[in-house]
Parts: sequence; C-alpha cells; structure tokens
Amino acid sequence: MGDDEVVRPRHHRAAQRAERLRVADDRLALLRVRENLGEPRDRGDEKAAFRVVILDPALTTSQPREVTAAAGYDAISHAVEAYVTKTKTDTSQAMALEAWRLLEGNYERVLEAPLDLHARDAMLYGANRAGAAIELSMLGATHACANPLTAKYGTTHGVAIAVMLPHVVRWNAGAVGPSYLQLWAGDLAARLDRLARAGGLPRTLREIGASRRDFDALAADAETQWTGKHNPRPLTIADARALYEAAW
Ligand SMILES: [Zn+2]
Repeated sequence: MGDDEVVRPRHHRAAQRAERLRVADDRLALLRVRENLGEPRDRGDEKAAFRVVILDPALTTSQPREVTAAAGYDAISHAVEAYVTKTKTDTSQAMALEAWRLLEGNYERVLEAPLDLHARDAMLYGANRAGAAIELSMLGATHACANPLTAKYGTTHGVAIAVMLPHVVRWNAGAVGPSYLQLWAGDLAARLDRLARAGGLPRTLREIGASRRDFDALAADAETQWTGKHNPRPLTIADARALYEAAW
C-alpha cells in the first residue's frame, strides 16, 4: 500500500536505537498503518490495526537457521498463494509480485550468509509486502492443507507449508499456469522445491511423522479450512487427500 508506513531503519546503531526508542515511547512496537479506511474489509478491526511497522534486519541475525528457513519459506508461500487467489486484485497482485521477487531472490542468500543485512532487509520487506497482499486477497490450498498437519502433529507452520506448497502449485497449474509463469519463467514447483531444499526443510509427510491412516481425517479438516475457499481451484476432500498422497 502506498499509504502504509513501513520503517526500514538504516543499518547503523544510532538510527536503530532512535527507532527503538521512538517505538518504546509510543508503545507502538510492530504496528502497522492502515489508512485506506474506505476499502471494504470483511475481517479485523481498524482500531486494532498496526499504525507503523518497524522492519529492522539486525534484530533477525540471531535467530536460528531453522527459524529463518521456515519463516522465510512461509513468507514465500504467502506471495505465491496471494498471487493467484480467487479474491486477488490488481493491488494485491502487485504486492505479491514485489514480495515474490524480494523473497525468491534473497532466501538462499540469507541462509548462506546470515549476517548479510541487505538480504535480510529484503526478506523482511518482502514478508511485509506478502502479508499486505494476503490481507487483501487471502491465501489458498497450501495453507488449507498445512494447517491440519500443525493441528494434528504440531508441525511448525513453515515446515508444513514447505511440504505442501510445491504439490499445490503443480495441482493449481492447470488453472493458473500463466500466472505462475509471471512469477517464474519455468517450472515454479521445481523452483519452490529447490528453495525448500536450500532451507533444509522436510520434503515429505513421512519426514514430519505423519501417518497415511490419518489422511482421511486430515483431508476432511483441510476441506473446511477458510483459506482454501480462496484457492483458484475448489479444494474438495478428494483433492486434499490426493495432495497428501502426493506429499507422502
Ligand atoms: Zn503461512
């Protein structure tokens, strides 16, 4: 959003300190601006919306590699899913595309060079843009299939997403293939698979301790997930089950 206020502190200590002090003074930590009050919104309360966001890459350098890998991959999935939802708009697609370029282009770099603040800054800003996109356009079948895995097995959200996203992209490609080509001029699912491998993330349901005996219950749960209703292809119980089989 052009009217969001996203603060990206300069990478020197004085600026960061000043930003943190300002945040502390205002009791506005991680707040977000939503000034587009005229837009129709079907969820949330504007009074609870963030007014300002502070994106400080220095704060992320101490997080464990697996947190960077899982959270970064989840942000990537937000860009990919938001780009093709039934509820997408020109604005949400522009945000999702910007997010994808930043995230796809810097994910491997932050894993290789955790102290590269430029790459971390790009990841943070990309994650922010992807989040703004999903506020407008929602998510899709990847999240619908991943959430039951977290509910059933306690799987970290970004890990469950990494297992499911390439399979959902392959399944969706029949409906939104040309849109996927705008993100990646080639096999987007293969690219997402490579990114997950770079993150050292599990690639199969087997690896996260899932049981095929649970597939019927997982699929029934996935079909009820609100986020799946926005997927470009309708997600039936049979579809969800087939996606779990593909990820097995
Ligand atoms: Zn997510």
